[in-house]
This record gives sequence, structure tokens and C-alpha cells, in this order.
Amino acid sequence: AFEQLSLLPADPLLALIGAYRDDPRPFKLDLGVGVFRDAAGGTPVMRAVKKAEERLLATQDSKSYLGPEGDAGFVAALAPLVLGDAVPAERLAGIQTPGGTGALRLGAELLARAGVSRIWIATPSWPNHAPIFAAAGLTPEAFDAFDVASQTLDGAALLAALDKAAPGDAVLLHGCCHNPTGIDPDAALWAEIAERVEVRGLVPFVDLAYQGLGDGWDVDAAGARAVLARCRHGLLAYSCDKNFALYRERTGALWTVAPDAEASAILYSNLLALARANWSMPPDHGAAVARIVLEDAALTAEWRAELDAMRERLVTLRQGVSALGTIGSIDLAPIARGKGMFATLPLTRSQVAWLREHHAIYMAASGRINIAGFSEASIARFGEALKALVEA
Ligand code: PMP
Repeated sequence: AFEQLSLLPADPLLALIGAYRDDPRPFKLDLGVGVFRDAAGGTPVMRAVKKAEERLLATQDSKSYLGPEGDAGFVAALAPLVLGDAVPAERLAGIQTPGGTGALRLGAELLARAGVSRIWIATPSWPNHAPIFAAAGLTPEAFDAFDVASQTLDGAALLAALDKAAPGDAVLLHGCCHNPTGIDPDAALWAEIAERVEVRGLVPFVDLAYQGLGDGWDVDAAGARAVLARCRHGLLAYSCDKNFALYRERTGALWTVAPDAEASAILYSNLLALARANWSMPPDHGAAVARIVLEDAALTAEWRAELDAMRERLVTLRQGVSALGTIGSIDLAPIARGKGMFATLPLTRSQVAWLREHHAIYMAASGRINIAGFSEASIARFGEALKALVEA
């Protein structure tokens, strides 16, 4: 039986990390890895998180099991911050999950259990989306909705896909800071998406993994709120791994929206059963720490200030890259319009390889760059390298 398995290629982004590490050139530039970086190139533990960890260490008197719902206090503290008053509490059910990935997987399994068989995904998307849904037995329906050259989202193509979807189909929506393009729907397009979802009876599955890193805390959740306010059934996969910089602690949540309290209780009981059969219960530490931050006004203010500084760094770096203007046929000006950590540049695979070989600039083969990987000095060098590329 095991003979039927074949060797799978290593994850290309992880391979990139190794190649970057082994590159001896002192001026090497890592735009590949998908984590936030500060001006010193580090991904530090946030100060408010460190303080909450100290408090947790001093006060936690048991590590006995919680339940499949994880830290209910974490979910309860987070819900109003994420969803505002978009969905009445009795229509909402939420549980803690191992990161946004766990939330997506759990939501996918709930959809499969509910008889939803298809999920529409605009491409390009986070490379793990389609495999997660496929693993849960759903069919990912990919459609093109981005023009990489002009860095624009094709709203008409997105709405056309929603019109083509059958009632009851699910549709995946990046809440903000689209990975890998950085291009989000504007408020007008979100309103049209919400309207289509309602009228066509679709099930929105919003993936919100970067709240606070785009335009600001509430603006970043406005699209998710608009869509979830108008659907009969919907899902929200949430990650605290970027906005609390908790990455490896695997901290996230999944919320479901149901038509009424009774239907919501049914969804919640199914979430618990599915979690039990997957990971039994999620890891505690990250959620416990986030809860301590969220339940303490001073720590919350400190964390939000740190998050704002991270967001402002991204905005400043975007403006810097954008100011490089047009190099050959590569227009960098639209980078300033993008949100969050990522942008996808109109580069071929061989151009990406050339930049790495000749200028020690590392990015994903797709042309995705992590904006946080730049510094003021390296933006200029990046511009020089692109000039050399188009003249080569
Ligand atoms: N969704 C998107 C769009 C992401 O970019 C990521 C992380 N790269 C996730 C979900 C998963 O986040 P987590 O690390 O919390 O599982």
C-alpha cells in the first residue's frame, strides 16, 4: 500500500529560506518569507504580548484540559473587536482554532458536512487555500480576478463568478491585505459582493488573517462585516498570528453565522465535534496571552499602538517602492495602493531567478514580495536591480 506514495517536492518557500540563509553575499535581501519584519529585519515578540506572557507565567495554576472550544474567553473578547455589531450574538458561534489555517480547515469540514460541495476562489490566492478545501472534500473553483501588470482587482470578473455560482455554493473572500497581491475590494465593491451573496444565496467564507495591518483596525474588518451582516449562513476564519505576532503559537478562531439561535447552536455543536476529531483541543498559550491583552485596557492600548506602528511601517515602505515609478514595463507606482505585507510583481520565473542570482534578491517564484522585507536603503538597491534586469 505504501508503495503507491510518491516523493513530493519540498515547499518552495521553505526551500527559499534555506537558499537565503546559505547565501554569503552581505547585501542579500529577503522578500520571500511571509512574516512581518521591523526596521532591524527582525520579527520580535510584541511588548504587550511579552507582558501578558509574564502575567500568564505568574498566575496560571493549571494546565488541565480545556475543551474543543479552546479558550472561550479569548473568543468572546475578540468577537466584538472583529465583527462589531454586524451579526446579532444569537446568530454567531465561535471557537478557538490552531491558527487561521485550523479555522479554514474546520470551516471547510463544516461546509462538507453541511453538503456544500464547491467553493469559489479568485486567483491568485494564498497557495494553501485550494489544498485545504480539497482535503476536506470540497471542489475549489478557481477563477481569474486580478491583473498583475496593473495591480488591479477585476471587480466585474469577481461579481460574474458570484453570478455563475449556484445557490448554496461557498465563496472564499480575503477580508483584507490580500495574499499575495495586496489588492482588496474597495467599500463599493464590498457592498456589491455582499448584495450578490445575499441575493444569490451563497455562503461567504471570509479569511481575515491581517486585521490591523492594512488601513486600520475597523476599516480592515469592514468588508467581512458587510458580507456577514447580509448572509443567511457564513463563516469567518481569523488569525491572530500576524496582528499579535504569535505565528508559531498557532492562534486563531472560527465563527459561523446562522439564520437564528437554534441553527447557530447546531453549527456550534458540529464545530465542537469536528474539532474533537481533528486536534481535540487547540494549543492554549497564544490564545491565553491574546485574551490577557484584550481583557486589560492598558495592554490593549499598548498592543494597538505597536500594531499601528507595524502598519505605518508597511505604508511608508509601500510609498518608497511606489516612488521607484516605472522601470521598463514594470510599474511600481500601484504598490502604494496595496494593503498589508504583500504585492505580486509582474515578473517571470526566470526574471525572479535572475534577480536572485545576480543581485541576491529573494522572492517567491510567483513574483510575490513581502513589503516588510525592505528597508529604505534596500528599496533603492531593489530599483537598481530592476533597472539592470530590464536592461539585461
Ligand atoms: N490566510 C491567509 C491569507 C494567510 O496568508 C495565512 C498565513 N500566511 C493564513 C490564512 C494562515 O494563518 P495562520 O498562520 O494563523 O495559520
